[in-house]
Amino acid sequence: MTSIQDHPGTYDHGGGVRSLRVPIPDNPLGFTLVYVVDTDRGPVLIDTGWDDPTSWDALTAGLTACGTSVAELHGVVITHHHPDHHGLSGTVREASGAWVAMHAADASIVRRTRETRPERWYTYMADKLAAAGAPEEHLAPLRTPPTRRRTLPGLAPALPDREITPGELLDLPGRRLRAIWTPGHTPGHVCLHLEEEHPGGLPGHGRLFSGDHVLPEITPHIGLYEDPDDATVTDPLGDYLDSLERVGRLAPAEILPAHQHPFTDAPSRVRELLTHHEARLTDLLALLSSPLTAWQLAERMEWNRPWAQIPYGSRNIAVSEAEAHLRRLVKLGRAEAVAGSGPVTYVAV
Ligand SMILES: [Zn+2]
Ligand SMILES: [Zn+2]
Repeated sequence: MTSIQDHPGTYDHGGGVRSLRVPIPDNPLGFTLVYVVDTDRGPVLIDTGWDDPTSWDALTAGLTACGTSVAELHGVVITHHHPDHHGLSGTVREASGAWVAMHAADASIVRRTRETRPERWYTYMADKLAAAGAPEEHLAPLRTPPTRRRTLPGLAPALPDREITPGELLDLPGRRLRAIWTPGHTPGHVCLHLEEEHPGGLPGHGRLFSGDHVLPEITPHIGLYEDPDDATVTDPLGDYLDSLERVGRLAPAEILPAHQHPFTDAPSRVRELLTHHEARLTDLLALLSSPLTAWQLAERMEWNRPWAQIPYGSRNIAVSEAEAHLRRLVKLGRAEAVAGSGPVTYVAV
């Protein structure tokens, strides 16, 4: 039997759904799986890929291999605002006139990213990391940021022109594709449920385009929803766990994720992920037998390599993940902030 791994370019999943591999430069994930869903008005993409000339070439070549072209595209449905998913949306829209749809919560992040000057971000990040207990040598580069960062991709993402309404069918003539709001990885992440019988007759309920919410072999990053203009105390890990259960209940016959490869038996993958996070929270509670800042907790948590080898940018992501876990533990009443501590420390209760 052939599988998607044997097809480095495009793959036909049957039932008018194909996928393209759009590379993510210098990233261990390797590629984004961009799905092409046929509709009566032309193909619609689920995500677009990283904004880079190589990625654009892969996308256009892939569409040609599918017997279509960028110009034929009717629309673009975005699972979430991250640059490996939404990066090429503006270029696709320019080349095709296709609409771009996104959940309102992620659309507001896009709007804010476009309006916020990079310097404001560095100040915000430096203050936040200082409050989390980051050492001065970690904060220094943020206090004097290089000016050339302006050229980084993802600073001017495309504003979507349509809003994805949770629970509703998208306006795709001839298809039944329903938006399932799955916040956690981002506040406006959506999975897209293709409510049509599985073309291979697999048991279960249709197919689910899962974005980064459920992946076969890795757990998505769950950090805080960073927003310099919003002081709401959110609980992204709690949102994520609730969203996972939502996907488990849907019991799709097959999951079509945005990275790695499609897989079946969604409920057991969901159980694995829930168990993983429960075990992690238990490990963190053990670490919190004495008070720790979010930074100190991140240093002591288990990562894919020792803390000393984790590069600068990944440390920021790790601290954000530690904070998301602390938020969850506090919300569950299993940990609390130590009164009068600064930077604030947390302890198990
Ligand atoms: Zn993502
Ligand atoms: Zn991704």
